[in-house]
Amino acid sequence: MSRSEDLYTQAQISIPGGVNSPVRAFNGVGGTPIFFERAEGAYMFDADGKRYIDYVGSWGPMILGHNHPSVLEATIQAAQRGLSFGTPTEVEITMAEMIRKIVPSIEKVRMVNSGTEATMTAIRLARGYTGRDKILKFEGNYHGHADSLLVKAGSGALTLGVPNSPGIPEDFAKHTLTVNYNDIESVKQVFAEMGDQIACIIVEPVAGNMNCIPPVEGFLEGLRSICDEHGSVLIFDEVMTGFRVAPGGAQERYNVKPDLTTLGKVIGGGMPVGAFGGKKEVMDYIAPVGPVYQAGTLSGNPVAMAAGLAALQQLSQPGLYDQLYQRVDTLLNGLQERADRAGIPMTTNRAGSMFGFFFTEEPEVTTYAQATQCNMEHFKTFYHAMLEQGVYLAPSAFEGGFMSAAHSEEDIQQTLDAAEKAFAKLV
Ligand code: PMP
Repeated sequence: MSRSEDLYTQAQISIPGGVNSPVRAFNGVGGTPIFFERAEGAYMFDADGKRYIDYVGSWGPMILGHNHPSVLEATIQAAQRGLSFGTPTEVEITMAEMIRKIVPSIEKVRMVNSGTEATMTAIRLARGYTGRDKILKFEGNYHGHADSLLVKAGSGALTLGVPNSPGIPEDFAKHTLTVNYNDIESVKQVFAEMGDQIACIIVEPVAGNMNCIPPVEGFLEGLRSICDEHGSVLIFDEVMTGFRVAPGGAQERYNVKPDLTTLGKVIGGGMPVGAFGGKKEVMDYIAPVGPVYQAGTLSGNPVAMAAGLAALQQLSQPGLYDQLYQRVDTLLNGLQERADRAGIPMTTNRAGSMFGFFFTEEPEVTTYAQATQCNMEHFKTFYHAMLEQGVYLAPSAFEGGFMSAAHSEEDIQQTLDAAEKAFAKLV
């Protein structure tokens, strides 16, 4: 028995499913979740001391690699000054100014503690601002687990096959309209019917919770013009893509400006942080200046702010993003080559330092339907073969992968060597 197996058995007694977030339970791939103890750079070390090259990066935050010295130092120093004050602090201004500089569509920003809080509040704000109840989202997009947003969601909700969770009153869910991702015609149709009742469109500008699916040309631009035409708020959920697919997120990469943006993951450098921000006119609808209520005991926490700020500062190093993109290219081109050679039908997607691979005959994956029709048996076998060889990928076919600045050419090469053996098992 490995120590992870022991710990998993023990964990299930006191913790539902043995985990504090469902996708960690390996439901998507079967087997025992690995319990980790320590992480450094591109590596994580499990409870038995085994080393893994990590492409999950705590589900996105660790873009600099684990335990980056500057982030660690800033966090320790802040902790020494006090863990929480519940008052305004100067570091919150520095953080807000930094965010505005990197993401220019954000004129004002409010810090929260998770991506879920950010999206939940952004839609409340859009509803309050427009005086409308309905919201439009896309099938397979995941925006956290707020009631209105857990309708046809991706990520763990998709892996578990319960996109509509019990516990959400139908009266809430009926206000959430869901259409196909990358299908602008379906959005136009819904708006033609009831555009004047729709408060907002919320979208993952690169979908990362049904594997990795970038927007097709014209999709984000189309959403922008539909929102303009109907007076609806356009929300880019950049919890995953922010500071990740480009320094200024997907809105920079695809050059489309939303009205509101939600952020998380990278922005906290590994600490629990989220944020939402955007047009001053909309943001001033939030309390205490405006009527829409939102609050948080630990929001803008000084230790979390210090960690996030240090991470964002490190990301401004020249050449850092180019290296990330190049490493993704090396990894995906190498994977494709090896899959082709082994005769395994597979295709890949990438957007900046986010990537995905799909076991499918389709030359290209751009839709939720295609993502869900991939060969899951191939994925599971490949997954466990990689895990065994010390490569940690997201334990679900519906999650993207993340490259970090700490991944070296050698790490990629080792990953590709492992993949070659893993593909051989699928033949
Ligand atoms: N939005 C997106 C796009 C996400 O990927 C996630 C989490 N994976 C969330 C929102 C929710 O963030 P959190 O888990 O921090 O609540």
